Amino acid sequence: MGRKIVIAGNWKMNKTRPDAEKLIKELVPYAEKATCETVICVPYTNLETAVEITKGTKIKVGAENCHFKSSGAFTGEISAEMLKEIGVEYVVIGHSERRQYFNETDLTVNRRTKAALKVGLKPIICVGELLAEREDGITEDVVELQTVAAYTGLTADDVKNTIIAYEPVWAIGTGKTATDEQAEEVCAFIRKIIANKYGSEIADGLTVQYGGSMNPKNAAGLLAKENIDGGLIGGASLKAEDFAVLLQAGGAGNAC
Ligand code: PEP
Repeated sequence: MGRKIVIAGNWKMNKTRPDAEKLIKELVPYAEKATCETVICVPYTNLETAVEITKGTKIKVGAENCHFKSSGAFTGEISAEMLKEIGVEYVVIGHSERRQYFNETDLTVNRRTKAALKVGLKPIICVGELLAEREDGITEDVVELQTVAAYTGLTADDVKNTIIAYEPVWAIGTGKTATDEQAEEVCAFIRKIIANKYGSEIADGLTVQYGGSMNPKNAAGLLAKENIDGGLIGGASLKAEDFAVLLQAGGAGNAC
């Protein structure tokens, strides 16, 4: 299959600079042993530190968001260019917390995705349904709308530089994980959407992650599934020993 397995931590609004330094230094030896790609998406204030400490290591650094304009009167925002300039490689786009608390829409997700790709950042695009939407039986409709919107206007070459993370909103930070089968079903569905739009070769090469309370106990089962090519991990990325277990599970899952 040959898809890249990517285990990405999303630190959210956690870790002061000294705490970040400590955690990254603890992670370095685990990442060296890992056979999957290791990414840490950290708050803006930790990005330069993270880039510096991870130089020459197997850890890649990501941001948690970027603006869609390259510059201008957007107080408090950071552009994709600014991230690229300091050595960031990945950026999380459209996380449900940004959709929920910061008015992120499918349109802005698409615009941020394009801005990231334009400067050579790899977007990790988040999609996923609310609990009420799952209970209403419209998970696939929601995920399809979000996915199609996020990829609008992207070329096949663009798609090769993206990752998509299926993150059911009801499973994020709640301790409730989707079952292996639920996660696999939606990840496979996402791959089908991409195949319909870009062909099966592009879809087969796309890294589709699962995210939502992935932890050392449930990671192996999720990552063993055929269409789950890694994870986007919040809580369990904040402790080196926990994240190390996920890196190991990432290596043991599908081929890297
Ligand atoms: C996330 O932040 O994307 C996430 C999945 O968080 P958690 O692992 O804590 O549910």
